[in-house]
Amino acid sequence: MLIQGGYSIRKKLMLVLLLTSGSALLISAIGFVVSDWYSLQTSTIERLRAEAGIIGNNSVAAITFDDPDSAQGTLSTLEAEVAIVSAALFLKDGSLFASYKRDGGSLPLEHPDKESGSINGNLFVVAPVKLEGEAIGSILLVSDLSYWKQRQLLHLIIGLGVLLASFIVALIISSRLQRVVSVPIVKLAETARRVTEQNDYSLRAKKLSKDEIGSLVDDFNSMLQQIQEQDAELKKVQEHLEETVEIRTSELTELTLQLEHQVYHDTLTGLANRITFDDRLQLAIDQSRRYGGNLAILFLDLDRFKVVNDTLGHAIGDKLLIQVAKRFSSCIRASDTLARLGGDEFGVLLMQINSATEAADVANKLIKAIADPIEVEGYSLHPSTSIGICLFPDDGDNAETILKNADTAMYRSKDQGYNQITFFSSEMNAQIVRRHSLENKLRQAVREERLNIHYQPRLDTESLNIIGVEALARWTDPEEGEITPSEFIPLAEDCGLIRDIDEWVLKSACSEVLKWYGGETPQISLSVNLSPGKFIRKDLHKMVKQTLSHTGFPGSQLELEITESLFGQESEDAMGVFEQLRELGVEISVDDFGTAYSSLSRLKQRPLNTLKIDQSFVRDLGKDPDDETIVRTIITMAHNLNLKVVAEGVETEDQYNFVKQHGCDAVQGFLFGKPVPAEEMEKLIKGVKYKGLE
Ligand code: C2E
Ligand code: MG
Ligand code: MG
Repeated sequence: MLIQGGYSIRKKLMLVLLLTSGSALLISAIGFVVSDWYSLQTSTIERLRAEAGIIGNNSVAAITFDDPDSAQGTLSTLEAEVAIVSAALFLKDGSLFASYKRDGGSLPLEHPDKESGSINGNLFVVAPVKLEGEAIGSILLVSDLSYWKQRQLLHLIIGLGVLLASFIVALIISSRLQRVVSVPIVKLAETARRVTEQNDYSLRAKKLSKDEIGSLVDDFNSMLQQIQEQDAELKKVQEHLEETVEIRTSELTELTLQLEHQVYHDTLTGLANRITFDDRLQLAIDQSRRYGGNLAILFLDLDRFKVVNDTLGHAIGDKLLIQVAKRFSSCIRASDTLARLGGDEFGVLLMQINSATEAADVANKLIKAIADPIEVEGYSLHPSTSIGICLFPDDGDNAETILKNADTAMYRSKDQGYNQITFFSSEMNAQIVRRHSLENKLRQAVREERLNIHYQPRLDTESLNIIGVEALARWTDPEEGEITPSEFIPLAEDCGLIRDIDEWVLKSACSEVLKWYGGETPQISLSVNLSPGKFIRKDLHKMVKQTLSHTGFPGSQLELEITESLFGQESEDAMGVFEQLRELGVEISVDDFGTAYSSLSRLKQRPLNTLKIDQSFVRDLGKDPDDETIVRTIITMAHNLNLKVVAEGVETEDQYNFVKQHGCDAVQGFLFGKPVPAEEMEKLIKGVKYKGLE
């Protein structure tokens, strides 16, 4: 009970010590009282015996002489012995000879049959009275024990006092002693409690003794040490885990954001994508229906972008798109949306516009934004964009129609010569349908090689001898009839067919012209047109070389016409291609010169042979003095640069005379011959001079 009870160790120890010392004291006290009692009895009997011996000896004479009075007198001497209350002298036969009795004392009536014992609480002793060794009687002494009892009581009281004192001393000592044991344990328990309460494993119990408790403290401390280390380890692992979880969470968040971004944005340019554009357009339309207000949708398509992709590669095309997207972004308000709708198409959604002019202003800004050349990997590219604008609610009542109409308006911009803005009008739909059907038909015609070539003569200005022919592609569709190059060439440029067309024209023209001369070296030069962009095609030299070797056409008789606008696209590569072509003996001429404001110094650096003055200048000769000056200047300048000059589109004799007068080297135009099929041209070149002027 003591062990299990809810007492503190201190109390338990106290109790144990007190119980141990108390019971030891009690047992020894009892022992002491018992032994005291016993020794008192023994000593009393001994004393009575000695007294009895003396009295017996003193009574021998009285018995011998049968003198009871004398015996009585001897017995009376016992008066001095306070402890003896009565005495009797018996004769040998047991008869009472003399007796003595103190006041209150009593005598046994008979002679006891024991030598000693107690009668009525009194001790008695019987001793023989001997004469010369023979018993002549006996003496009985009775002692009253009350005197002894009083002494015994005194002894007991003293003993109890000593016991109490000892107990108090034991209490004090045990209360001190228990501390020796309990204090270290209590301290240990305190430390353990603090560790638990504060969760602090760096705490240590103080070692107060070197005994088992001391080693328990050591064990406890080393256990704490271990727990502390494990705790630290655990904390580290936990921290690492938390850190990892944090990193993973942020990675996951980042990834989710990226994914979200990827879903709603174009990966190449970072602009909104088609999904986002459609969403916002739909939202804008819904809002506009509910709260009123106008929207404008701008549909942008980069001009001849396919040429860049085809000739310089997709990597450069992509970089160009990124740059263009950046420039476009700078023109758009935060509340509006600019998106890449796919390929080279962009869409702009303008919210809450007050008038169509506002939309036109933004469109103009976009056009201007890419007016300055964009440098991509050493190429100086001149992108432009055609824009179609559609208004909500005027030009369509749903997102799909509006986008389609903006697209249609954009195609009108392309048809009108690129880099333009066109507002949608309802008549446009028919045209766009035609454009799409034309594109399909052209694709088929190119695939089935159903194009053909007409040749227009070029004549020496002085002699009027045919010195060359220009190959011009012709396309007659079974349903549409003849479609002019000014319609299908831009279309082919746009849908990426121009490359095949040019290659086909070059190959076919070389073969046909060679045929006119029966396979011998032609006496005239052949001019073939190459579309812008084509010239910087890196494998152009390879393509031309292969065509020459396949057909057997001499490079020295071939001239490639490149429109002036191409010369803006300068690069080391382009220069290299010019040089390589020149190595094949091929001449290079600038077509439609005067329309693109080429810098003269730039032309000087080019390995060129001929400038072809654009027909727009020739047309107005005699009417517009400015054009006369321009033509005159071009001729002089070209000659200064060691270039030959050809006047295109010469329709009248006045025009011919003007260019002749100013030293133009060659002429080309309806005045001398329209483009004609191969067979007719073959006949024509048989005549050396143009007959009409003879
Ligand atoms: P271009 O290379 O400047 O060709 C001259 C154009 O002017 C031809 O138109 C020709 O028929 C026309 N022309 C010639 N003399 C006169 C004249 O006295 N008066 C007028 N009004 N016009 C004249 P065409 O054949 O319609 O070709 C138009 C343009 O299409 C060409 O201009 C050329 O840039 C392009 N083209 C034609 N064939 C090809 C081709 O095979 N490849 C490429 N890339 N472009 C081609
Ligand atoms: Mg030409
Ligand atoms: Mg021309």
